[in-house]
Amino acid sequence: MSANNAFHIAVLGGDGIGPEVMAPALEVLRKIEAKSDLAFRFTEAPAGAGHYKETGKSMPDTTIRLCEEADAILLGACGLPSVRYPDNTEIAPQIELRFHFDLYAGVRPARLIPGVPSPIVGADQRGIDLVLIRESTEGLFASMGKGVVTDSDARETLVITRNTSQRLFEFSFRLAERRKARGRPGTLSCVDKANVFRAFAFFRRIFDEVAKNHPGVKADHVYVDACSAYLVKRPWDFDVLVTENMFGDILSDLTASLVGGLGMAPSADIGDRYAMFQPCHGTAPDIMGQGKANPTAMILSTAMMLDWLADKHGIEGAAEAGERIERAVDKAYADGIKPTEFGGSNGTADVTKAVLEAL
Ligand code: ATP
Repeated sequence: MSANNAFHIAVLGGDGIGPEVMAPALEVLRKIEAKSDLAFRFTEAPAGAGHYKETGKSMPDTTIRLCEEADAILLGACGLPSVRYPDNTEIAPQIELRFHFDLYAGVRPARLIPGVPSPIVGADQRGIDLVLIRESTEGLFASMGKGVVTDSDARETLVITRNTSQRLFEFSFRLAERRKARGRPGTLSCVDKANVFRAFAFFRRIFDEVAKNHPGVKADHVYVDACSAYLVKRPWDFDVLVTENMFGDILSDLTASLVGGLGMAPSADIGDRYAMFQPCHGTAPDIMGQGKANPTAMILSTAMMLDWLADKHGIEGAAEAGERIERAVDKAYADGIKPTEFGGSNGTADVTKAVLEAL
């Protein structure tokens, strides 16, 4: 942190709609700055498919150094289906950054904002307010770039370590405790496939060990296949869920869809020291350059960033600013903003204007 209440933020717009949703998020932070004693210094840096096309690298070393020096990282979205490594995988600096900075806890809240349509019958009455925590440095993704493919077969290895699982579960229990203190149920569900795989039985055993340190949190287990059905039938029964990387990758798209779509779902990738904040969605090449991208998820990711900075540096004003952004987003939707993402006529500029006005 450069000075009291002054934060240096690394800004990686990325590809596709990444820069399109980043610009509104920075505008929102500038407005917060004007109305509080917080100050932000934004430094933009390249990463993603565009940079790879020009240089043959997913991001330059200077981007990594900037992220090391900054107080937090904001990322739009990276990768394009049309730009690939020789092994046909996409350029994904966001995943490399998770590994580099050991950002093991992928925090993905799914909160149904009043006025936003959910595909789940009854959700408008019962509400949805859950957080999915996706382990983000190992699991099946530990195999990224290391899979072995021959003419006759292909293998990828899933890795679960005690060290990361313990920290992941400690983080998850603490989050459940914080939510309980704010009036939520404070339950934590471990999502696994412990009935079939030894690695998941190990994952579950560590979860149960860590649970003993947190008697105030109601801990339970659910198999991933059943979990996906319950999330569709009765999402209001969940509070905090924690799971392996690949399961979390899939379930977090599902939970985002419960609350209006990927454009509504923010996320944070958090480690012991560093953290990166980005929307759950990808680069959405089908709508890029058309002014249709919903910036809400990116804007809500900045609120998560402020909450994390507040917690890390003990600056209550930053947490309040994060809450103000959430309330402004809620007000914009209560006042009738409807993004094209779910059938409305409001594009990026309209949503941004409505949130800025509500602020
Ligand atoms: P990735 O694998 O990089 O996460 P993806 O394949 O899941 O990406 P997205 O780029 O997230 O795909 O897009 C999935 C669908 O959701 C697309 O039809 C896209 O247009 C839509 N979408 C994603 N984000 C937004 C947004 N912010 N606003 C409107 N629509 C979006």
